[in-house]
Amino acid sequence: MGIEERVEALPSGPGVYLFRNARGRVIYVGKAQNLKSRVRSYFRAGGDGRVQISQMVERTADLDVVVTPSVKDALLLENELIKRHKPPFNVRLRDDKQYLGLRLDARDPWPRPTPVRRFKEDGAAYFGPYTSSQSLRDAISNLRRIFPLRSCSDPVFRDYARRGRPCIEFEMKRCLGPCCGLIDAASYAQLVAGTVLFLRGRSDELVRELTATMERAAADERYEDAARLRDRIDAVEQTVQRQQIVGEHAIDRDVFGWARRGGEVEVAVLHVRGGRVVGHVSHRFSEVLLDDAEAFGSLLGQYYAVPDRVVPGEVLLALEPADADALRDLLSERAGRRVTLRVPSRGSLREQVGMANANAELQLAQRLDAHASVLATLAELQERLALARLPRRIECYDVSTLGGTLAVASRVAFEDGRPDKNGYRRYRIREAAAGDDFACLREVLARRLAKRDGDPLPDLLMVDGGRGQLGVAVAALRDAGVSLDAIGISKERDTGGDTRRVKRHGGLKAEQLHLPARKDAVSLPPSSAGLLLLQRVRDEAHRFAIEFQRKLRQRVHLTSILEEVGGVGPSKRRALLRELGSLRAVREASVEQLARVDGISAADAQRIRSFFAALEEVDSPATQRRPDG
Ligand code: SF4
Repeated sequence: MGIEERVEALPSGPGVYLFRNARGRVIYVGKAQNLKSRVRSYFRAGGDGRVQISQMVERTADLDVVVTPSVKDALLLENELIKRHKPPFNVRLRDDKQYLGLRLDARDPWPRPTPVRRFKEDGAAYFGPYTSSQSLRDAISNLRRIFPLRSCSDPVFRDYARRGRPCIEFEMKRCLGPCCGLIDAASYAQLVAGTVLFLRGRSDELVRELTATMERAAADERYEDAARLRDRIDAVEQTVQRQQIVGEHAIDRDVFGWARRGGEVEVAVLHVRGGRVVGHVSHRFSEVLLDDAEAFGSLLGQYYAVPDRVVPGEVLLALEPADADALRDLLSERAGRRVTLRVPSRGSLREQVGMANANAELQLAQRLDAHASVLATLAELQERLALARLPRRIECYDVSTLGGTLAVASRVAFEDGRPDKNGYRRYRIREAAAGDDFACLREVLARRLAKRDGDPLPDLLMVDGGRGQLGVAVAALRDAGVSLDAIGISKERDTGGDTRRVKRHGGLKAEQLHLPARKDAVSLPPSSAGLLLLQRVRDEAHRFAIEFQRKLRQRVHLTSILEEVGGVGPSKRRALLRELGSLRAVREASVEQLARVDGISAADAQRIRSFFAALEEVDSPATQRRPDG
């Protein structure tokens, strides 16, 4: 049955539909009150006139539908399916670091606030999200000033408890020393309760409670306690004064602002708790093809589907989302009470939406500016290196071996100048000899290119190395029948006596870029933004390979590490350990000492020494570089 006939046979009730491309991949998930009429609108001659929708329909080769009891259920299922299939034509709220937050688990004997990147449904309380790690750090430091809960991990807590004296945090008045029984459990629990009220934005309630406790302490002539509580009240009030008041009523609401230019969308959310703005966060989306109402409705559904997301009593919106009634029902169900969803047209509520819109506009403008400068950098690279395509996605490969053993390779991916960790891969070399860099690279590239169906190719393939490595890359592409820009990057060869060139670049060796069609390497000025980007990509590939190798080496049992040295079989290993006494002695032995061992040739001795020298180098602090970005 053709796709048009299948559309005609669809039911007229609510449900979810999935469009698939010729390879069976889900490219779009949508929900509808009336499945048949919604899906038919896409396939009607000329569609609904939107260019982007026609692109999607052109790529649709098959469709599935799931009938649901209501649109609300369809919305729920749509969220799940978007999360599972990550369809390219849907807008997707990324479940990533945007959810920087604070976790507080009241079930711990001595709870402490900890920063987290994930909100889980694990029974603990979560607060946030915070817009950046800096804002999260500020929040924690402010919180500790007011509520000095412990900041140490459990092992540190136990350690100080054993020693019987608190750590420096106690001296600095940032902790009340529960590790050593310097605060009782009931008082600590009060601090935890105060922290929760504060983080929930219930400052009025908090100040009322603290004031009552302070008055009781004063009446009981516990003046030190009363003074401490007074300071805490002052600190809460100072913090609250810094928060913007957005209404006379102590209401909880989320306010959504919206800004769009073409396919670029920014959604800003202001969290109003107790009538004050206690936090704001912004979500970015690129290449959005859906219209505003569809995209906004889908995002709102995904936003409140995040586990432990607090659904306030009121949600103010910049524009009317698709299927607003179903969304309202879904949010009310999640909150366990009625939730108001509205697009205010005037008055102070409209002003709040205006504020959220202004935030979204600002974020979008800054992002587009940054994007423009990245595009200019990529355009510079395209022109200087005569690339066929703008290198928006770059993959770089680096092979790393340890004294001719433990051969591994890394792949890193950068999208629009930023690392895309989802595109990172680690390879353990299976076939090639560990000391043969070219063979290792050939194996890795062949394995990568064989998987190109499920893992789309980049715009530019880069290898860490000179003409030799580039030649391997070009041959691998040719063998796989792939046409793709490829380059190599290497340090300018040390020319011994010729120090002029070295000095010219401030004492650092210059980078050389190798292109398939040019015999001579290309040198870009050291200040070139394009070169800096390529260096960063290469350094990241190097770091990632070394990190993998280190992990791998830790996995290799110490006594079996000798097995990793090529050409050293069981009888040679036994001879080494027998004559030198221990693995440590083998590790520390010179080439001469090794060569004196029965059955160990000069070449074996050299190989063993190089292996352990490389091992030491990997372990040295100089190679323990931090990940960048
Ligand atoms: S004083 Fe004790 S409980 Fe507080 S942070 Fe230090 S070790 Fe942890």
